[in-house]
Amino acid sequence: MSEPPRTADFVVIGGGILGLAVARELLARHPDASLCVLEREDRLAAHQTSHSSGVIHAGIYYAPGSLKARLCVEGARLLYGYCDERGIEARRNGKLVIAAEESELPGLDELERRGRANQVPGLRRVGQDGIGEIEPHARGVAALHSPETGIVDFGEVARAFASDVQSAGGAIVTGCGVQGLDPLSGAVAVRHGSGTTEAGFVVSCAGAWSDRLAVAAGAPAEPRIVPFRGAYLRLRPERRELVRASIYPVPDPELPFLGGHLTRGMDGEVLLGPSALMVGARDAYRLGRVRWRDLASNLAWPGTWRLVGRHWRTGLGELRHAASRRSFVSELRRFVPELGVRDVLPGPSGIRAQALDRDGRLVDDFVVHRTESALHVRNAPSPAATSSLALATLIADEVG
Ligand SMILES: Cc1cc2nc3c(=O)[nH]c(=O)nc-3n(C[C@H](O)[C@H](O)[C@H](O)COP(=O)(O)OP(=O)(O)OC[C@H]3O[C@@H](n4cnc5c(N)ncnc54)[C@H](O)[C@@H]3O)c2cc1C
Repeated sequence: MSEPPRTADFVVIGGGILGLAVARELLARHPDASLCVLEREDRLAAHQTSHSSGVIHAGIYYAPGSLKARLCVEGARLLYGYCDERGIEARRNGKLVIAAEESELPGLDELERRGRANQVPGLRRVGQDGIGEIEPHARGVAALHSPETGIVDFGEVARAFASDVQSAGGAIVTGCGVQGLDPLSGAVAVRHGSGTTEAGFVVSCAGAWSDRLAVAAGAPAEPRIVPFRGAYLRLRPERRELVRASIYPVPDPELPFLGGHLTRGMDGEVLLGPSALMVGARDAYRLGRVRWRDLASNLAWPGTWRLVGRHWRTGLGELRHAASRRSFVSELRRFVPELGVRDVLPGPSGIRAQALDRDGRLVDDFVVHRTESALHVRNAPSPAATSSLALATLIADEVG
């Protein structure tokens, strides 16, 4: 469909995996309602959804009781079921989280505690020999093995959600950016590139741009989205045998990022990364890209300076990784000692939409804010792709 309708019961902003999952869920619950998805880019899943590691997380990392913990475990289960039903290939090839040194064992213990509290299926502790049996080229003092972790092409899943939306009578309009929301009595006027749509209710799943629409619609200024670029390297085809499935480090508990890892994707390609570098554009797929509005937004937010004050050492490490392939590889060689700088080639990159609070804390959990006649998803970083079906259920419950 090329033009948005003049009126709709529901408007969903954002044609990423989350917006499409929400649209699908709303139509399943309200089959007689009219619904329209508005996506600014000329294609669906253009940003985070198709620039991720493609990992179906099993729910190990997240604080027990958090939305992430609950919705990741449930979301992975729903996603595997959906992929089976729709004939989308999703491989449960498992993953190892490896403590490379003794000093990382307390971190691994904590992950094991969380994984068990979150009821991650099949989670088991392995020693040095067990690591070698699962990943013959990997080394470490101990590891957690999660056999239910898997991989999928999230872009393909998003397109399947889109086809469900259209089959249920929903409209999807690409190339139509939303500029603002104006409250009407009992409704909301959605201003966009093709005019205005009067909506009964709006759900905004705008990823890296979610804070702008939310604040303009009257939601609190906090949290601010700060873009973190994740760059990957990839293994040369003749060295792909170094990794069978997924090898992850024990992450820094202070940060929501999972750390640079090695992951075999659906096409057999092995990606190394991603890094986590704060950048000056919400679409900085090219490292040097800066958008003044985005940069000013980062710099004007007090949380940015507090974050830098607290984590400058980590930031310098990430800068080193961005500047030097050798430094990135030497970090990963702790788990795969045979890995050499000649084994890698440049890879893709993605931009994480990460919420940052005023005190400089990267917001760990999913966040949703409500304004009159609208719900705004304010923080949906990893594992939101894994959790998309479960998050959509929660959001549809909130819509009521
Ligand atoms: C490097 C990286 C690795 C990751 N790895 C994993 C992983 O392995 N597993 C996992 O579960 N998750 C992973 N994630 C996280 C996952 O990709 C995201 O959580 C998920 O894709 C979020 O989906 P979304 O629909 O909210 O966002 P997006 O896919 O970013 O979609 C938001 C959409 O909104 C549109 N939009 C924005 N503003 C407007 C506007 N004003 N009008 C209309 N449209 C608008 C955008 O164009 C975009 O298409 C990773 C993310 C990154 C960046």
